[in-house]
Amino acid sequence: MTLTREPLIGVLNAGSSSLKFGFYEGETRLLGGEVEGVGISPKARAVGPDGAAIAPPPLGDAPASNSSELLSVIMSWARERLGGRRLAALGHRVVHGGLRHSRPVRVTPELLAELDALVPLAPLHEPHNLAPIRMALRLEPDLPQVACFDTAFHRSAPEIEQAFALPYSLFEEGVRRYGFHGLSYEYIAAALRVRAPELADGRVVVAHLGNGCSACAIKAGVSVATTMGFTALDGLPMGTRCGELDPGVVLHLIQQKKMSAEALVDLLYRRSGMVGLSGVSSDFRELLASSDPRAKFAVELFCYRVARHVASLAAALGGLDAVVFTAGVGENAAPVRAAICRACAWLGLDLDEAANRDHRPWISTPSSRVKALVIATDENLMIARHTRAVIAL
Ligand code: AMP
Repeated sequence: MTLTREPLIGVLNAGSSSLKFGFYEGETRLLGGEVEGVGISPKARAVGPDGAAIAPPPLGDAPASNSSELLSVIMSWARERLGGRRLAALGHRVVHGGLRHSRPVRVTPELLAELDALVPLAPLHEPHNLAPIRMALRLEPDLPQVACFDTAFHRSAPEIEQAFALPYSLFEEGVRRYGFHGLSYEYIAAALRVRAPELADGRVVVAHLGNGCSACAIKAGVSVATTMGFTALDGLPMGTRCGELDPGVVLHLIQQKKMSAEALVDLLYRRSGMVGLSGVSSDFRELLASSDPRAKFAVELFCYRVARHVASLAAALGGLDAVVFTAGVGENAAPVRAAICRACAWLGLDLDEAANRDHRPWISTPSSRVKALVIATDENLMIARHTRAVIAL
């Protein structure tokens, strides 16, 4: 008997100092892992199909000043582990797909040139996403590659959602709300179809609360509004990013405090949010464990702002059937979920405190009109699914 195997798909998710990777056969992740501290002191970890730790890619002889330099080490480690099986394609997370891309696409040199032009829109992410694609194109020119965009899922949002109240010509030039975390939202929308089909066609706010935070209004599986904007700075406060901010503050910092563009980038992307407010940490584990009143203040402000945005997104949806929590904070920080849900009680959300403390998937009471759920996101699996679909075309 011959067994037809599903094509083997590699997934790379390259950030500024980390590189996440996965190798998938169908829905099964055969290998997964991450290199952290890229460019500083890289450390790798990896897991096998059962999630148990295995020997990671050997970084000893890798230069590793950036994630693209790690590519050949990871690829040969994976091939050895996978018994030399042929890789059908490599899928990548690319933060910004601009106006043109509402779905994943096959990588070509023309596409890379087009994505290069988007670097100024996501200066801290896009170059890191593109570097391993270029490297793979050089090392393995025959290996199909697919770019999966974090902005793509939001291209369905209506123009009134995407436009800022600036001169219309700027909107036409592309100064608009793109939204991010789209791969995560798409995964959750698909997961809802399986876990809670009665909600999948309803009005759902998904709160992706991790190092980066945003929320998305999803109606019948389609994004209609989201909190992140032109860049990944807008909307909810985050670990180190400010979230929504009166643009007058930026003018004040430039005009009165004479801050340079570089200093502002550093302030708004790296020194604001939870770390800026608390002076303690960007990590909710540390904030929740801290007795520092400013850590408490930062967490309170965070929950307050998330709840305000949930209500704003409910308005965009014309009502609310469910709130889904996901990503590092959303999946793990029960006190944060509790505070947000309590602040949403007026919308009809009745929190089941015990279920929330126990991290159960359903954290609203059975009689709650608005349901609350916790669903673990899996952007890499979403990339693997997309990549498989694109190369099958
Ligand atoms: P992500 O970007 O989705 O990987 O989320 C990372 C963030 O999730 C970390 O910086 C922490 O703030 C948060 N986090 C992870 N685990 C926990 C936990 N057990 N309790 C509270 N926060 C957590």
